[in-house]
Amino acid sequence: MAQYNQVTPEILEQLKAAAPDHVFTGDDINPDYMRDEMPIYGKRMPDVLIQPLTTEEVSAVMKICNDNLIPVTPRGAGTGLVGASVAVLGGVMIDTQKMNQIIEYDLENMIVRVQPGVLLNDLAEDCVRQGLLYPPDPGEKFACLGGNVNTNAGGMRAVKYGATRDYVRAMKVVLANGDVVDFGAKVSKTSTGYSLLNLMVGSEGTLGIITELTLKIIPAPKAVVSLIIPFEDLETAISTVPKIKMAQLDPQALEFMEREIVLSSERFIGKETFPKEMEGQEVGAYLLVTFDGKSEDEVMEKVETACELVLEAGAIDVLVADSPTKIKDAWAARSSFLEAIESETKLLDECDVVVPINKIPEFLTFAKTFGEECGLEIKSFGHAGDGNLHIYQCSNDLEEEEFKKRVDTYFSTLYKRATEIGGLVSGEHGIGRGKIDYLRECLGERTIDLMFGIKKVFDPNLILNPGKVCYPLEGI
Ligand SMILES: Cc1cc2nc3c(=O)[nH]c(=O)nc-3n(C[C@H](O)[C@H](O)[C@H](O)COP(=O)(O)OP(=O)(O)OC[C@H]3O[C@@H](n4cnc5c(N)ncnc54)[C@H](O)[C@@H]3O)c2cc1C
Repeated sequence: MAQYNQVTPEILEQLKAAAPDHVFTGDDINPDYMRDEMPIYGKRMPDVLIQPLTTEEVSAVMKICNDNLIPVTPRGAGTGLVGASVAVLGGVMIDTQKMNQIIEYDLENMIVRVQPGVLLNDLAEDCVRQGLLYPPDPGEKFACLGGNVNTNAGGMRAVKYGATRDYVRAMKVVLANGDVVDFGAKVSKTSTGYSLLNLMVGSEGTLGIITELTLKIIPAPKAVVSLIIPFEDLETAISTVPKIKMAQLDPQALEFMEREIVLSSERFIGKETFPKEMEGQEVGAYLLVTFDGKSEDEVMEKVETACELVLEAGAIDVLVADSPTKIKDAWAARSSFLEAIESETKLLDECDVVVPINKIPEFLTFAKTFGEECGLEIKSFGHAGDGNLHIYQCSNDLEEEEFKKRVDTYFSTLYKRATEIGGLVSGEHGIGRGKIDYLRECLGERTIDLMFGIKKVFDPNLILNPGKVCYPLEGI
């Protein structure tokens, strides 16, 4: 491990001079800063919290931290699920939430320039008001765009529009030593050397601090329709997914969900929308599909084809949500899955794995069976259209130590199986602290060495977000 220093009173004074009125310590730091949304990966308060307003302030703070070997943890809204924004060594946390201005739209080039602390929800709503769409749509709307970019957040619309990476055109970055650099440009294509822009996307705060983003936007679709499609069992539901894709219906979203998780989510939100029994058959699983397009006719044509196709593939029925209220209701339960699971579970961990879509059924069956063998309760849902599965391990009975031991055995085997069938460790939540060992197991030493080499070029003193992604800390 690199050598780090504590924040002394002298260094604290320098930090206060670098970001006047934006430096906090002790009881002035809200305890929420000790964790993200998956506290099982550890909690620790930063020694100093800084909420800068400008790139210059971030640069001055980084220079002080680099000169004094103080670890720095960048932070957005703290909604991450892998412990990536937790200050595992204390030190300085740079919270970018106060840098929250939508700076300008450039509609001739269809881009928007924002600060990293702008909430996804705020940009999404601002775009809608102007007939525009910012397509990335991860479930947590109150995450920051800086966090979204640093995790390459995916979400419901990734199946049609791609993940956050596909919408990042340019960024301003403060490097570990305080230097300020610009990566990318407003242009829509480039072949201009190594893409440092793309290296930053998904780097989880380990390479630099993003202080400005230029993002691509598109015209909003003119018509949107969602379908709730009940099936007798999960296997039939999932095996319909490649058929929908092969019919080239280009769904905007294509999610699968099991009966149990829908029941738990509807209990949580206090509203029932999904049918539980139809035509004398008990519903065991659902697909939730959204189509969008340039006109109602175009979308209804897709809906008709989809209905024929899924009924032929074994769906019990199809429920059409064709008004904004019905669509909102159809998605309400899906949007609350994580909170619903949390509300009913004492101990929780998650495997955010991605596999080729034609391998989903066999992988889910394996995940369930092996979960039972490990004595864990397994709940799963996910983005069926892009193979990104969220498999939750839950327990209300086990002691934390025993739970972690079983989850470790479960994860090692599950990620190994995912890799064998052509998948990867994370589809959208990242590696952070929680998945660091599994990343190494699945990618191998050579690839991790390359990643660590890149990290050292950006951050020679290893002060940026230690203990995350490709830089483990022994005993922490
Ligand atoms: C209910 C719920 C639903 C979710 N659904 C989804 C989903 O559908 N898809 C999905 O992908 N994720 C989902 N997430 C996970 C989470 O919302 C995302 O990972 C999100 O991108 C994190 O953003 P944040 O602002 O909270 O970042 P944080 O959690 O604060 O930080 C995430 C990472 O980004 C780094 N970082 C943040 N800002 C900067 C910056 N300006 N410069 C450098 N590094 C920075 C941090 O160091 C950390 O490594 C969900 C979470 C919850 C709680």
